Amino acid sequence: MPSQPPDYDLIIIGAGIHGAAVARAAACDGYKVCLLEQYSEAGLATSSSSSKLIHGGLRYLESFQFGLVKECLKERRILLRTAPSLVRLVPFYIPVYQNNKRPVWLIHLGLLLYRLLGGGQFRKLKQSEWPTLDGLSLQKLTAVFEYGDGLTNDKQLTQAVLQQAVNNSAVFLPQTTLKAIEIKDNMVKASTDKQTTITGRMIINASGPWVNEVLSKVSPAVSRLPIDLIQGSHIVIPRCLDKGIYYVEAADKRVVFAIPWQQHCLIGTTESQFNGPPEQCRPLAEEVDYLLATWNRYFTDDLKHGDVLQQFAGLRVLPASDKKAFKRRRDTLLHTDNTLSPRIISIYGGKLTAHRSTAAAVMAIVHRQLPGYRRTDTSELSLPA
Ligand SMILES: Cc1cc2nc3c(=O)[nH]c(=O)nc-3n(C[C@H](O)[C@H](O)[C@H](O)COP(=O)(O)OP(=O)(O)OC[C@H]3O[C@@H](n4cnc5c(N)ncnc54)[C@H](O)[C@@H]3O)c2cc1C
Repeated sequence: MPSQPPDYDLIIIGAGIHGAAVARAAACDGYKVCLLEQYSEAGLATSSSSSKLIHGGLRYLESFQFGLVKECLKERRILLRTAPSLVRLVPFYIPVYQNNKRPVWLIHLGLLLYRLLGGGQFRKLKQSEWPTLDGLSLQKLTAVFEYGDGLTNDKQLTQAVLQQAVNNSAVFLPQTTLKAIEIKDNMVKASTDKQTTITGRMIINASGPWVNEVLSKVSPAVSRLPIDLIQGSHIVIPRCLDKGIYYVEAADKRVVFAIPWQQHCLIGTTESQFNGPPEQCRPLAEEVDYLLATWNRYFTDDLKHGDVLQQFAGLRVLPASDKKAFKRRRDTLLHTDNTLSPRIISIYGGKLTAHRSTAAAVMAIVHRQLPGYRRTDTSELSLPA
């Protein structure tokens, strides 16, 4: 008896920005795609807990990650063109104080380099403009730089990308948790908590901070990369920022953003080692203190815990290392079970900004493994508003 063909070409685990982006690219190329998500909607995990910036990452220049910055700036340009209702360019202000670790010349140099890599124009504000900056403390202020970067609603962006996947015939199964994967001959079998088994030709593991947990469910066993989960928290405070986003140096010399967000102000982020199950990540009291202290230091305010309107945390997937999280590389890593004939591609880490190019890199492997399909240039696809 001839064996049954698999139900799908690709089974994607996780409807965060990466799962949605791969589903969209694959569906547009004509692959049969099924996307499983344990929660009720797309984008409820890391992809709604980010700083919501579509940016090159000016601060990655400090750790010489020029390739990443250039790639993200290219993706920023694409998103500004293809998703104008979801991504907009916003002024960013960098105030430089007498006691800052990063002096004026260094910020100037960084912005020159950022411009060279595609980040656009910047300028130094006249001193007469300082008092217009949303109540920013002027004591010991020596300079303020302005440049532009992107801001989005991360959850809406994820859902718009997924919508485009579904419009191109991808099947989305929310509230469906992957329980086991079996690799057999030319087929992969994914068993779910709904007692269903879905068959496919390849698995894309886009489960974000659950990436290794998903790989632990594969038989026969496959290798996993050693990672650290680093928690980043944000708070929302009842303040309004009319001018734009502020990029300030916290007491420990890390940079923190204050971002206009839904009529209020979003402050983030932190970096704390996280050791529990990803679904249990929550902001710690000391992280909230740290963010409030950073705000109070620069905005001549005295906000307390009780003033915080909302708080949330997300997990960064970073290569395991003894280095401080702030100094580690932020490139996305694609890991396959077998480099000659991969059945599972796992996405480790990544940036919201670079989701499209990450999906394109995944699709390059898929096309080699499952040839004969068309190739869609996703940089030309406009996202539904
Ligand atoms: C604090 C913080 C701030 C950030 N800020 C920015 C920023 O400003 N700009 C930027 O470009 N990037 C930013 N990033 C990076 C960016 O947010 C992430 O790289 C991106 O959101 C990760 O998306 P993902 O799809 O890989 O993971 P997720 O969004 O976590 O999605 C994974 C999905 O898999 C699902 N899942 C897991 N296990 C299973 C299972 N067994 N069965 C079914 N479903 C499963 C989960 O429910 C989840 O929905 C930030 C990250 C953090 C942590």
